[in-house]
Amino acid sequence: MNREILINSSYIVASILFVLGLKMLGRQATARRGNLISGVGMLIAIVVTLLDKHVVNYTWIIVGLGVGTVFGYACARFVKMTSMPEMVALLNGFGGLASLIVGAAEYFRIANGTIVPDPPAFTAAVIYLTILIGGITFTGSIYAFCKLAEWLSGRPVLFSGQHLVNGTLLAATIVAGVIFTISGDPQWVFLAFAAFTAASLILGWTLVMPIGGGDMPVVISMLNSLSGIAACAAGFVISNNVLVVAGCLVGTSGVILTIIMCKAMNRSLANVLFSGFGAAPAAAAAGGGTVMQGELKPISAEDSFAVLEAARQVVIIPGYGMAVSQAQHVVRELAEMLEKNGAEVRFAIHPVAGRMPGHMNVLLAEANVPYEQLVEMDAINPLMPSMDVAIVIGANDVVNPAASRDKASPIYGMPIINAHEARTVIALKRGKGAGFSGLENQLFLLPNTRMLYGDAKASLQGVVSEFKSLAAT
Ligand code: NAP
Repeated sequence: MNREILINSSYIVASILFVLGLKMLGRQATARRGNLISGVGMLIAIVVTLLDKHVVNYTWIIVGLGVGTVFGYACARFVKMTSMPEMVALLNGFGGLASLIVGAAEYFRIANGTIVPDPPAFTAAVIYLTILIGGITFTGSIYAFCKLAEWLSGRPVLFSGQHLVNGTLLAATIVAGVIFTISGDPQWVFLAFAAFTAASLILGWTLVMPIGGGDMPVVISMLNSLSGIAACAAGFVISNNVLVVAGCLVGTSGVILTIIMCKAMNRSLANVLFSGFGAAPAAAAAGGGTVMQGELKPISAEDSFAVLEAARQVVIIPGYGMAVSQAQHVVRELAEMLEKNGAEVRFAIHPVAGRMPGHMNVLLAEANVPYEQLVEMDAINPLMPSMDVAIVIGANDVVNPAASRDKASPIYGMPIINAHEARTVIALKRGKGAGFSGLENQLFLLPNTRMLYGDAKASLQGVVSEFKSLAAT
């Protein structure tokens, strides 16, 4: 069979596997298989690409494959679930850098006269887009990584004239892009190339600067989308069909995810990108507009056990604190004990609980909590008044009633899980720490709420051991 036909038909198979895999990732029960199927698609795409007659030397490809394999394996093996957003940020950044390098290499290949003395307009335009988007994605992602890893302050960095600076940089890249595409004079083309490459790298950094560390997951999802668009443009640069398809899929799924996250926080993308959310923690710490009433009432593990032993309808609401304390396995153990004791147990999942989309689902799946027990926010809220006990495990913002009651609150309008409607609330947290938004939470002060203080895992172990001693007697 002709080599071109073999390559392109394999690319079609790989693309179909990507789409099937993505579809299966949408449901927990099929997600692992979907991941594997997409992986097989990528393997086919890589192997077939290596057959391309344009490959002149395999040495550096093998070196790259070796380094990438070791790095990828080490990440998959050792990076903690709570550090996943940082890792995704790094991977997006490398994706953007790879596209930038592909665009730059193609420009130099053309400029050196291998094909024609200056790039044809279409090629020049896609090289420009590849480098612009790749550059922004690279430095933006590295900045996002530094904020999340706390190498840099998570606070939004604001200065006067910031939007003007960003606007000027963007305008400069557009002017340079036009010159690069239509000038035809090799010297101007080179100057324009150098200008928009430098400007895109600066722009990535300055665009992420005013965004707070807590909003980084949304930014990372957006940068993920940009890395896909850059890869798609790179696919046009080197006329590689599967890169175009894969880039489009990453680009569009990243956009969809970004929109879902913004909706779940009831904020617009423009608000996330430009409002400097979280720049004024002092105002936020006061609870936004809410006047806090009531007192925090502690409860011991023994008393929590007594409450839970009598409960027939129990809802467990996990949040970021469950991820921090890695309490998911002991949560599953507690749920099993409650069921053995005759209670019906559900897990209420808020779409932005934790620090990345699907964070709670991933942790609970890791602990083998049956998928059927996970109930989405919209489905659980009507049931909340019939719940005997709501166990809030390291969740704060996603159960803050101010989001639905207090128009002055910065999180007003964010949909929440109505934990406050349960007959009794047992809230597990270490102390008075605020959630991601920095707000205090009236839920913890309500007459029907009891605070089980301590690391969530240790607190739950205390309750589980009470159940175990009951079973032993
Ligand atoms: P949260 O509002 O960040 O609150 C987490 C709570 O967990 C804190 O109040 C903390 O209180 C407690 N905690 C921390 N470590 C703990 C431990 N070891 N044991 C027990 N408790 C612990 O979490 P959330 O309710 O899950 O809300 C998520 C927030 O992140 C939302 O505001 C959401 O908008 C935002 N966000 C999420 C995403 C996403 O994709 N999921 C993306 C961007 C932003 P103590 O310090 O007192 O223990």
